[in-house]
Amino acid sequence: MTHDDFKVKVLGRAEVKSKLTPSSLSDGTAFGFIENDDRVLINTTLSNYKQDVETSKTPISFEIAGPHEYLYFNPSNTKVAIVTCGGLCPGVNNVIQSVVNQLYYRYKVKQIVGIRYGYEGFIAKYNHQEVELTPQSVDKIHFFGGTVLGTSRGDQDIVQIVDRLSKLNINILFCIGGDGTLRGAHAIHQEIHRRNLNISVAGIPKTIDNDINFIDKSFGFETAFTIANDIIRYAHNEAIGAYNGIAIVKLMGRNSGFIAAHAALSVHEVNLVLIPEMAFDMDGSNGFLNVLQRRLENRHHALIVVAEGAGQHFFDSATLEKDASGNIKNKDIGLFLKEKITEEFEAKGFPFVLKYIDPSYIIRSAPANANDSKFCGLLAQNAVHAAMAGKTDFVVGHWNSNFTLLPIPISVSKRKEIDVEGELWWNVIETTGQPASMKKQ
Ligand code: ATP
Ligand code: MG
Repeated sequence: MTHDDFKVKVLGRAEVKSKLTPSSLSDGTAFGFIENDDRVLINTTLSNYKQDVETSKTPISFEIAGPHEYLYFNPSNTKVAIVTCGGLCPGVNNVIQSVVNQLYYRYKVKQIVGIRYGYEGFIAKYNHQEVELTPQSVDKIHFFGGTVLGTSRGDQDIVQIVDRLSKLNINILFCIGGDGTLRGAHAIHQEIHRRNLNISVAGIPKTIDNDINFIDKSFGFETAFTIANDIIRYAHNEAIGAYNGIAIVKLMGRNSGFIAAHAALSVHEVNLVLIPEMAFDMDGSNGFLNVLQRRLENRHHALIVVAEGAGQHFFDSATLEKDASGNIKNKDIGLFLKEKITEEFEAKGFPFVLKYIDPSYIIRSAPANANDSKFCGLLAQNAVHAAMAGKTDFVVGHWNSNFTLLPIPISVSKRKEIDVEGELWWNVIETTGQPASMKKQ
C-alpha cells in the first residue's frame, strides 16, 4: 500500500465559510480548524521513520479528523440521512444521537431523517417510512442498547438505494455498521459517482469484535469485554464450586479473538483461552483435552473462555450455513467442547462437572459504558465535520490518539486479527499459564 491509497475523496471545493468558532485555550493556544494535509503517521517507530527517510519514501499516514474552516455543504439547505445495519453493538444509539446533535446544534442542519431497518429502509417494497430526527426525538436514546432505527441483513439493490437518496434530496448519508455495511456504503458511493450526484457517504464503523483494520479501537468493544468480565467472574464461581468443575464461557469474536483475549487479561482466573487465530487439536498429549485434564488434576477446577470463531476447523465445511448477508454462520464451538469433554472424561471415568455459558446476545444489546459513550460521541462529531467538508467514501477511525479519516476500501481490505506471535497473545499466555501451543505432537 502506498501513501495515495490513504487519500480521502472529496466531492469538490469547500467554499462555504464555516460558522463554527474555533476556541482559544486558556494559555492562548488556538484550538480550531484543521487543514486537509494534517496527518498522523501509521507507524511511529523511530526505525520506520529512519527507513522512510533513507529511502525517500512518503510515510504512510492518515488524515486527521476535525472541523474545517470551509465546508462543501451549505448547512441551511443540507439534508442528511442516517442508517444502521448489521448486528447490534453497544453504542449505536449514542452515535445516532451525537450525529443528530452535532448537525443540529453545531452546524444548524435541521433536516435529518432516520432510515428504518438498515438498507431495507431504502427499498420501496418493504414500505418502511423514514423518521424525522431531532435532538428531542433522540433525547435519552443513549441510555438504551440496540438501535432505535432498527437494522437488517441481506443484499439490497444499490440502484434503488441511490434512487431513494435522490428522491429524498439527501446530501449526506451516514452508514453505521460493520464490514458488510461499509462495503454497501462504498457501492452506494460508486453509484452516486457514476450518476455524478453530490452526495457524501460517511461510514461510522461498528464492530464489537474490534476487527477493523487500521482502527485501533472500535466503539462497543470496551463495553463488551467489561460485561464479559463480570460473566467470567460468575462462571469462575461455578467452576470452583464443584470438584473438577469446568466452566466454559463463549464470547463474540467471529474472526478475531480480541474480546476473549482482553477479557482474559482483565480476569486473571481464566485458565484457557481459545481464539480463531490459534489452531489447536483436541487429542494428543499437548491437545486441549489433555491440557484440561492436567489442569483439573492439579487444581480441580478450570475456567475456559472461547471466542465464537475458534476451532471452526473441527466442523465439516460442507455443512456451514450463511446468514442473509452471506456471512458464514459459525458452528457452536462451546457446545462442541462440552460434548467432546463429556465424551472423553466419561469414557475415562474421570469425574467432572461442566457448565456452558453463552452470553453473546446479552452483551451485544447492552448500552455503552462511560468510556464507549464518550468515544461514540467523538466519532460522530468527527464524522459530521468531515462530511460537511465534502469528504466522501470515508470512515472515521482512531489511531495513535487521534481521530482519523480513511477511505472505506482501505478499512475493509483486511480484517484486524491477533498475531499469535505478538505481544498481546503472549500477555494472554503469561496471564493464563496455558501452553503456547495446543497442537498434538
Ligand atoms: P456485522 O459486523 O454485525 O456483521 P455488517 O455491517 O458486516 O455488521 P452485514 O449483515 O454483513 O453486517 O451487512 C449489512 C448490510 O450491508 C446488509 O444489508 C448487506 O446486504 C450489505 N452488504 C454487505 N456487503 C455488501 C456489498 N459488497 N455490497 C453491497 N451491500 C453489501
Ligand atoms: Mg460483518
